[in-house]
Amino acid sequence: MKIIKTIEEMKSISRDIYFDKKTMGLVPTMGYLHEGHKSLIAKAKEDNDLVVVSIFVNPTQFAPEEDLENYPRDLQRDAKICEELKVDYIFHPKEGDMYRENFSTFVVPGENMTDIMCGVTRPAHFKGVCTVLTKIFNIVSPQKAYFGEKDIQQLAIVKRMVEDMNFDIDIVGCPIVREDDGLAKSSRNTYLDSSQRKAATILRKSILRAKEMIDSGEKDAIRVQASIIEMIEEEPLAKIDYIEILDFETFERLKIIQKRTLISMAVYIGKTRLIDNMVIDLND
Ligand code: AMP
Repeated sequence: MKIIKTIEEMKSISRDIYFDKKTMGLVPTMGYLHEGHKSLIAKAKEDNDLVVVSIFVNPTQFAPEEDLENYPRDLQRDAKICEELKVDYIFHPKEGDMYRENFSTFVVPGENMTDIMCGVTRPAHFKGVCTVLTKIFNIVSPQKAYFGEKDIQQLAIVKRMVEDMNFDIDIVGCPIVREDDGLAKSSRNTYLDSSQRKAATILRKSILRAKEMIDSGEKDAIRVQASIIEMIEEEPLAKIDYIEILDFETFERLKIIQKRTLISMAVYIGKTRLIDNMVIDLND
């Protein structure tokens, strides 16, 4: 496995892979790899001749008050994990190379996809995500790129961007990987102390209760949402950012639970903002 730190070298490797007629899968990450990332890498290994993992803590997707400075970073540890998973290349560019002094072009997703869920409290976030992914896609030129369903809004926005901007890349969504107690794995879980860590299980528990209600016939989305809110509000360390019950395809708010319903939430546990979701398929 090789760690590539310059854009030029990464481009040149990508060109060679292309001319060798090999397929390449990309797993974009901000590093501090965990089982969630590993599952994306495993899927990419299955599907492609070669796998590139990008590790870049992208400053343009963090608001000034967010955790850019404190975001956990450990390249050595990540490299070991990638080596074990037989990743071919880590692409780890420098911030100053990705965003040169006169950088001034951004890719902005449509408001219809960002005026809800995480886009409300993190208004510039998806602009940063789409911009950095456009750059990484252009530098790495993968045939496929792998994203977690944990970040369900990101996945939908990236799929739309790839279609709208004619990238020749298949976007592959991968299921959420969880801790034994149900908490979705996240690099941000490292911020939680032990009591917060226990409290954090409320996200999954409240979604499971909502699913039970729906399974036993509840069709009123407002009542389902109210039950989630009530359960989370009983947890003193938790503060709701949003709880949404949406049409999975359009992200429109629902009054009545329908065939494919997305339950999506962001909840602060202390200062740490955690997200989770579940897609409920009434045919299940
Ligand atoms: P991040 O490093 O947090 O930007 O995440 C990189 C990729 O890993 C994104 O596509 C995430 O959706 C995905 N990911 C993060 N956590 C999980 C998880 N628990 N299960 C599945 N995918 C995940």
